[in-house]
Amino acid sequence: MRSTQEILKKLERIERQYLLSMRNAEDQKAVSYYYGWHHALEWVRKRGDQVIVDEVVGTGRCSGCAACVAICPTNVFDYVEDRPINTRLNLCIDCDLCVESCPELHLSDVDVEMKSLDSFAAYDNGFGRYGAVYLTRSTREDILKKSQDGGTVSALLVHCLEKKLIDAAVVSTTTPEKPLYPVAKLVFSAEEVLECAGSRYTYAPNLLALREAYERGVEKLAVVGVPCQIDGLRYLQHSTPDIEVAKWYEKHVVFSIGLFCSEVFTYQGLMKYFEEVNVNPLEVDKLNIKGKVIITLKNGQEVIKPLKQLHKYERPACRFCKDYAAELADIACGGLATKGWTITVIRTRPGLSIFENAVNTGVLEMKPISLEDEPMKLLRKLCQNKRERPNPPLKTLFNV
Ligand SMILES: Cc1cc2nc3c(=O)[nH]c(=O)nc-3n(C[C@H](O)[C@H](O)[C@H](O)COP(=O)(O)OP(=O)(O)OC[C@H]3O[C@@H](n4cnc5c(N)ncnc54)[C@H](O)[C@@H]3O)c2cc1C
Ligand code: SF4
Ligand code: SF4
Ligand code: SF4
Repeated sequence: MRSTQEILKKLERIERQYLLSMRNAEDQKAVSYYYGWHHALEWVRKRGDQVIVDEVVGTGRCSGCAACVAICPTNVFDYVEDRPINTRLNLCIDCDLCVESCPELHLSDVDVEMKSLDSFAAYDNGFGRYGAVYLTRSTREDILKKSQDGGTVSALLVHCLEKKLIDAAVVSTTTPEKPLYPVAKLVFSAEEVLECAGSRYTYAPNLLALREAYERGVEKLAVVGVPCQIDGLRYLQHSTPDIEVAKWYEKHVVFSIGLFCSEVFTYQGLMKYFEEVNVNPLEVDKLNIKGKVIITLKNGQEVIKPLKQLHKYERPACRFCKDYAAELADIACGGLATKGWTITVIRTRPGLSIFENAVNTGVLEMKPISLEDEPMKLLRKLCQNKRERPNPPLKTLFNV
């Protein structure tokens, strides 16, 4: 049972959150703040782990970002099938870190966007605040061969590892047993970065590898993730409870690279899809989605199919998502409507510094892209569509 003082303290924070949501009433995120505020009522009664399990996972809108799992100082959660489970609930010390780190709840006392983006992010042309945007690609053949688009993400990581600007990076990889099933990985070398290059279109809980980085005491860390993971990263970096693990992430994550993302598919759904289009998943070398599904087989053959047939296997949690262009990342990357190049949106000064360093040393080549060019028009349209699409109904709501 909570003490009256604890309840009053929480109510005070909820009131601040409510006022924040009122101030942002014109903001498209207001609905999320509103949900957050209502769910906070449950937060008064319940312990953090229960709020996560009942209000986020239970209502069907948990993106699976794993921020709550990574930050919990007493390791309460297991992560199973894209969801946190409070397996060791007796270990919960009710510190609220998981609740504050959850981007679905928006309960942090701080304005996470203000904290994440600096004055370099001066423009907003419909794909999140940014300072500069280019088309870029790696100048190394081996990187281009392994990567999804222009190899920019891998080239930046390789460069930063080789120049000792970072000691490790959080990425995703697969295992030989399940080649299209992504898992989180902490990498320390250029070879490992290359092994992990390319995109997997089922959910990779990259943030789970943060825990390993923390436990191993990595000094300088880069994080790659889809937008919901970058949001989770930012929330956990800027959560207010003064507990060592939260401060650690704020101090040691040097920069983040977000990947544009319209949706991911369930693993079972993707397997069914391959069956429907007569492709053996073990024969797939690379999958790319560019308005259509492009499957490159290990024998070099390319199979092109319409996207519509795959769309029905979208992960239900993705239907709540409003962020297409990783709006809180230091650098955001995508490949829509381009071939062999990565659209590279630089949002912050740390992002700019890494990027300039890579360009000046010849690791990346770049060319300008205008807002009137086709990929940018499409990017703005897709961001708008994602922001404006209505949320699906929650499984349960406001059961206070
Ligand atoms: C699930 C998913 C959906 C995407 N949807 C879009 C889209 O709608 N429009 C668009 O323009 N671009 C999308 N992208 C981004 C695009 O596929 C490329 O990742 C991006 O253009 C960068 O290309 P690159 O060659 O520079 O990256 P690479 O050098 O190939 O590096 C890619 C990095 O992404 C990591 N990664 C791979 N799969 C995952 C995953 N599932 N989750 C987290 N990290 C992963 C890898 O470990 C690697 O570090 C998506 C990517 C993913 C993973
Ligand atoms: S982060 Fe804190 S409140 Fe959440 S489960 Fe762990 S110990 Fe409990
Ligand atoms: S922090 Fe991420 S994984 Fe945890 S409940 Fe929230 S959305 Fe789900
Ligand atoms: S659509 Fe959103 S919730 Fe789904 S994987 Fe992409 S960023 Fe995460």
